[in-house]
Amino acid sequence: MSDIERLLPGYNCGSCGYKQCRDFAERLKNAAEIESCPFLTRDKFRDNVEKILSLLGEELPKEEKIIGIIDGLEADLTLAPLGEECSCREDIHPFDGSVQVEVGDILRYRPLGCPVTHFARVIDKMPGGIYTVHMVGPLHRLGNDDFKFKEVGICMILAFDGKVARGNIPKVGQTVKFVPEYCMMQKVHSGMIVGVEGRNVRIEAIDLKVW
Ligand code: SF4
Repeated sequence: MSDIERLLPGYNCGSCGYKQCRDFAERLKNAAEIESCPFLTRDKFRDNVEKILSLLGEELPKEEKIIGIIDGLEADLTLAPLGEECSCREDIHPFDGSVQVEVGDILRYRPLGCPVTHFARVIDKMPGGIYTVHMVGPLHRLGNDDFKFKEVGICMILAFDGKVARGNIPKVGQTVKFVPEYCMMQKVHSGMIVGVEGRNVRIEAIDLKVW
């Protein structure tokens, strides 16, 4: 138990459900429980995790590579929606600022660099024509004449807020390649990590040019 304790982060933060790393070490029985400590999924602790697993008589499960379907590129992580939300949150900026947009509106647009028309519901608006949206289409929206939306043309995609579903939790300041789970093209995106809370991350400076 004390060997395992020495390999834990030592932050005694309680995120694993125990008050101290020592209590976590005492109750840790298998590989599946290791993820309860959010820090152990970081690259920095990879060697420690391998040693802990060896003490427990287990091996690190081999993660399959994350490969974009349309571009065949390898990504660092996949991004899932926060909590029970329908998609990751995205901050978008339409180049055409003439359309009056309100919270609750459905927007039709095409992200700069993406060939797919998107539909999204506005959940927040910020100064400067930046809107936080949830993706709500296009699958069941196209060809539906009764469906009301505002056309805002081409948009710059500025940021994603979501949860790391596969891959290691990145650090603030790290440039990452990622695949949003609901991306229709399963295309690898890139961006800069500006916030990390557990497995939830905010990625800004989004770019579809990845190589
Ligand atoms: S979450 Fe990790 S660092 Fe925090 S108390 Fe538990 S074992 Fe220690």
